[in-house]
Amino acid sequence: MDTTYINTIDGKTKVEWWDADKFTGRVTQIISADETVTIPIPNTAILCDFCNEKITEFPVPVLYGTHALCSVCYEDVKKEEESNDKQ
Ligand SMILES: [Zn+2]
Repeated sequence: MDTTYINTIDGKTKVEWWDADKFTGRVTQIISADETVTIPIPNTAILCDFCNEKITEFPVPVLYGTHALCSVCYEDVKKEEESNDKQ
């Protein structure tokens, strides 16, 4: 897995580049007052954590080790820093 760094509004940010196999076997948990339900996430359901667009290009940029980004949002995150520089 490749790791790169980009500058965002939060400063220097680590980006991990995940291949499709890194997204297998994920689960999500729904926690209520009585119980915690663990639901498997289908391996093909890889959605952008920013815009919920389905991601089809690999490897996928993953911010902070958890947030998968589509190529459009990844470019936006990088652009934010560029526009900040000009202010
Ligand atoms: Zn997106």
